[in-house]
Amino acid sequence: KYESYPYERMQKIREQHIVPSLRTYYKKPLLLHQGHMQWLFDHEGRRYLDLFAGIVTVSVGHCHPKVTMATQKQLARLWHTTNIYMYPAIHEYAEKLTSLFPDPLKVVYLTNSGSEANDLAMFMARLHTRNFDIICLRGGYHGGSPYTLGLTSLTSYKHGVANGFGCTTTMLPDVFRGPWGGSHCRDSPVQTVRKCSCTEGACLAKDQYIEQFKDTLNTSVPKTVAGFIAEPMQGVNGAVQYPRNFLKEAYQLIRERGGLCISDEVQTGFGRTGSHFWGFQTHGVVPDIVTLAKGIGNGFPMAAVVTTKGISIAIEEDGLQKNSEDVGTYMLLELAKLRDKFEIVGDVRGKGLMIGVEMVTDKDSRRPLPVEEINQIWEDCKDMGVLIGRGGLYSQTFRIKPPMCITKRDVDFAVEVFHTALQRHMRPPVVKGRNTNKTASEITEEENEGTAPRQMKIRTEHLYALPKA
Ligand code: PMP
Repeated sequence: KYESYPYERMQKIREQHIVPSLRTYYKKPLLLHQGHMQWLFDHEGRRYLDLFAGIVTVSVGHCHPKVTMATQKQLARLWHTTNIYMYPAIHEYAEKLTSLFPDPLKVVYLTNSGSEANDLAMFMARLHTRNFDIICLRGGYHGGSPYTLGLTSLTSYKHGVANGFGCTTTMLPDVFRGPWGGSHCRDSPVQTVRKCSCTEGACLAKDQYIEQFKDTLNTSVPKTVAGFIAEPMQGVNGAVQYPRNFLKEAYQLIRERGGLCISDEVQTGFGRTGSHFWGFQTHGVVPDIVTLAKGIGNGFPMAAVVTTKGISIAIEEDGLQKNSEDVGTYMLLELAKLRDKFEIVGDVRGKGLMIGVEMVTDKDSRRPLPVEEINQIWEDCKDMGVLIGRGGLYSQTFRIKPPMCITKRDVDFAVEVFHTALQRHMRPPVVKGRNTNKTASEITEEENEGTAPRQMKIRTEHLYALPKA
């Protein structure tokens, strides 16, 4: 069926005509032909459970039939600007979308991407407050446009070109890797293995990070600021969670200085965290501006800025928020069992279907596991049919953000695959009774006597033919 698109030909086209700086995942990048809900199919008909789709764009499922039908219908009817004319569907959509927000967040402006939404949010905050400076957290990702690159605070996205004047980064309140934090500090079904000195009702880590926040406000910006932007849980940086009440107090400090609070919900919005529809609700705050993208269009280039009337002058059918909560909590707890079993699984965190699994050399030092070792586990999972994302400063965190239609059975499969990959990693593969210097993923199934049967069982179970397009 796909004879006219052989892998080698596609590879050649990519080499010759697609910018070389564009990154591909995996040693042998996947050539994909089809998607269906939580599944992807490659050119050989091999099926993969896509635990990474939600990070990229797809929230309700690859090629979800309802989304496909609605899009086809609209494309056949009218495709035009939404700003200079009126069109019923847009009005209906704006009404529906804003009904999902608490007062006074009732006005929406549609854009094409998350970067654009954050550009606009910065612009609005500056215009409204007549201040210029915006505070953001280190490790945050808010976009790749020249403005938002000032907010994005991850070295791999930074380049030596002028960008985003007036953006000041402040310390990331990371309760696993940062200097303060531990078991009681965050809102997750799984606590960290790191001990902390918090007591009932008093989070010392939060107090320390807030002191750092104040220090930034007192030293690095003028007395009044335009705003503060944060993701309710950091996405690209690997599902990093802040101590309870950190955002609440940070919002208050910003508002005392005349600034607006912006919640970047590009990754956390639309029920992803399970317990709430919006990430900011998990922190008990109401922002002044909320930015949305990715999940909003299930992969289509669509985004939005939602704000108050003052500043501006569903999807819920499939029960996906509840599924995020139920299946996400189940997955977190299953992964936590692996954390307790394997020394190199340092942290399992997150809420709903936004999960981070941070890999370390050992739990005491929390040193990131060397990237070659993480790659090996990651490639192995792919070979067994599970696609996982990556994140964190050292690429040390597996990011799990599947389409929200994923089931507990899929989770069992994914956890079994991850378990197998970890076991293979911890137990050096044996070739014909001898130890080998080859990495686990370089060993063929025949060579790998110790683990081949289990791996092959998983592989054959998950080889399926493509569904009809
Ligand atoms: N904010 C967050 C939290 C994101 O994760 C991203 C994209 N990864 C963006 C903004 C930018 O969105 P886009 O890629 O649509 O410009």
